[in-house]
Amino acid sequence: MERTFLAVKPDGVQRQLVGEIIRRYEAKGFKLVGLKLMQPTRELAEKHYGVHKERPFFAGLVEFITSGPVVAMVWEGDGVVASARKIIGATNPLTAEPGTIRGDYGANIGRNIIHGSDAIETAQTEIALWFTPEELVTWQPSITSWIY
Ligand code: ADP
Ligand code: MG
Repeated sequence: MERTFLAVKPDGVQRQLVGEIIRRYEAKGFKLVGLKLMQPTRELAEKHYGVHKERPFFAGLVEFITSGPVVAMVWEGDGVVASARKIIGATNPLTAEPGTIRGDYGANIGRNIIHGSDAIETAQTEIALWFTPEELVTWQPSITSWIY
């Protein structure tokens, strides 16, 4: 089954949006298979955002993502990678549609609440970067047969 990596960024944690964000993915019918609160190291952050290392905002981005606790999560379900991104909304909260997480709660591109993997391959890399295999839980929610 498809999996994606999501992380509530330090601004989302500080603004007490963790419950609201988890609620949206639970309500959609996706399955939570990994969850932890952690303050990312600089090394982890630089790897996670490695594709952006030449961008002018890279240093600030790494500074920000390591500035406080983050809620790292792995969610599972059919088409979860693309669907989770839709629920997140556009990168810039000012252009993100209302109803999306960034559209509803964000007001600045550098403080956009949540990260979500952008493709299935990226998701696999990010899950392996943030979680050990033992931290991912295999379970069968009883509600599954009412979703699929
Ligand atoms: P997304 O998080 O939607 O996948 P990107 O991968 O393009 O977006 O960028 C990663 C993160 O870098 C964004 O979520 C945002 O926090 C930050 N970022 C992107 N573009 C800018 C920018 N122009 N100025 C400041 N921060 C930016
Ligand atoms: Mg991205």
